[in-house]
Amino acid sequence: MASSNDVNVKVAVRCRPMSGKETQMGASTIVGVQDTMISIRNPADDDIKKFTFDYAYSVDSQQTTVYTDVARPLVDQAFQGYNGTIFAYGQTGSGKTHTMMGSGDDHGIIPKMNFDLFEYTTSTATPGRVAAQTDVGTKYLITVSFLEIYNEVIKDLLNPSDKVLKIREHPDMGIYVEHLAEVLVVREPSDVSRLIDEGNKVRQVAATQMNERSSRSHSCFTIKIGSKKIETLGDMTRETAMNAKINLVCTSSVDRLSVDLAGSERAAKTGATGDRLKEGAAINKSLSALGNVINMLADRSKKGHVPYRDSKLTRLLQESLGGNSLTVMIAAVSPADYNYDESLGTLQYANRAKSIKNATRKNEDVNEKMIRELREEIERLRQMVQGN
Ligand code: ADP
Ligand code: MG
Repeated sequence: MASSNDVNVKVAVRCRPMSGKETQMGASTIVGVQDTMISIRNPADDDIKKFTFDYAYSVDSQQTTVYTDVARPLVDQAFQGYNGTIFAYGQTGSGKTHTMMGSGDDHGIIPKMNFDLFEYTTSTATPGRVAAQTDVGTKYLITVSFLEIYNEVIKDLLNPSDKVLKIREHPDMGIYVEHLAEVLVVREPSDVSRLIDEGNKVRQVAATQMNERSSRSHSCFTIKIGSKKIETLGDMTRETAMNAKINLVCTSSVDRLSVDLAGSERAAKTGATGDRLKEGAAINKSLSALGNVINMLADRSKKGHVPYRDSKLTRLLQESLGGNSLTVMIAAVSPADYNYDESLGTLQYANRAKSIKNATRKNEDVNEKMIRELREEIERLRQMVQGN
């Protein structure tokens, strides 16, 4: 068997700065960060709750710090053949897009990771003589895809059409979206920036057609890395292939989630009734399913069926949650007092996600797999012979 390790989902929280509007309205700060601890004060009774995460980022945290801590390790691991996933979570306006995409030139994780990958592959791809008689050359193939899930329908943001895309499962390759465009990243980092911009434009156009759509849809940017290492030793050549993918997911807001899950008391508070409640439930099927999956996985005593198939998002993330992937969750919160309920909800979810364990497994090269299986077969036969 290929070796596997149990690794907890890594959880980071980030508190954005107070917005100009919030400051103007005289909002007060109820969130504080100290090292890896985040505290939140209930404005009603001053009760303070504290949570500890793998990383906690205060209002003045920089994009580069977040990237270096949580995203860069996934790039290094991807080149070792491990899949990775980062998903951002939090109410509308809490800073998910800022962290994942960035604001203007202040690039977030997705563009930074693409630049990084480009540098990595161009700096190591040149064939060179490593040791006497050994020629090593590595070729890389990097493709990206970008999709949106809105109302349980998957839309290809790099190749927009009305086609309904389906999620499928391949015995070796795992879960994938059928007919999703995979665009080859070729020459330079600006190629990727252009793709990201195009995808975001498709989302924005849809957003203006349908009010607030972008805050109710989930997006997933996937980077696939393939490499082939060719070693020549005398007249023998050895080829090793490696594949890995990194999913960068921005989920929609949790404000709707609380409408879905918390029933009448909470719904009354948010003013959601009748149609709006129904709409919220339909739109955020994915997010409530994600909540259920997190609950199932986090509560070890509940051994049973994990409802991945209840929504597109959870099905897409199946291998990342309790599966074979190094997974990071970034929970985004607002510092303002009037977002207390939502921020506390986000922190409680993030806290639960800490106990999810993934069995990370290296994606194995087909040749190496064959060699390993043959070796195991020889060993088995040898033991049989010796036993006789
Ligand atoms: P979301 O995607 O969660 O709805 P956004 O990322 O769009 O939220 O953030 C809302 C606003 O706050 C944006 O104008 C964004 O630029 C700003 N913002 C969010 N996080 C930060 C941060 N860490 N530093 C500075 N500005 C931020
Ligand atoms: Mg957003």
